[in-house]
Order: sequence, then structure tokens, then C-alpha cells
Amino acid sequence: MPLYVYHCPACGKDQEVLRPSSQRDEPLRCESCGNEDTRRSGASFASAVQGSSSRGFSGGGSCGGGGGFT
Ligand SMILES: [Zn+2]
Repeated sequence: MPLYVYHCPACGKDQEVLRPSSQRDEPLRCESCGNEDTRRSGASFASAVQGSSSRGFSGGGSCGGGGGFT
């Protein structure tokens, strides 16, 4: 099961959650402020494909907004 990262625009907190890929586009409720309008900001599979170890990339990435990357 892949690990997805969800970013809360309200408080800026990033959360990681393991969930089926079928649920990847469902918003995750922010555990910090309760906001439910979080956004998936990335997926961390078994290996760090992205390479960079910088955490908390704030939007504007290659996979922002659209969804539907295979
Ligand atoms: Zn929040």
C-alpha cells in the first residue's frame, strides 16, 4: 500500500497516510486543525523515486492540481 502525503493549506501541515491507491484522491482530514480540504502533494512508494530528501515541497510541483498521473 503506497504512502501518500497530504498537505493542509490551512495550517501548512503535511500528513502521511497509508491508503489504497483507489482512495488516493480522497481528501484527508487534517489532524492538526480539522480542515478536510487537504491536498495530495505526493506519493512515497517503496523507493524514493523523487530523489530529493527535502520535505514539505509546497505546491507548484510537477504533479499538483490535476491528479491522474499514472
Ligand atoms: Zn490543517
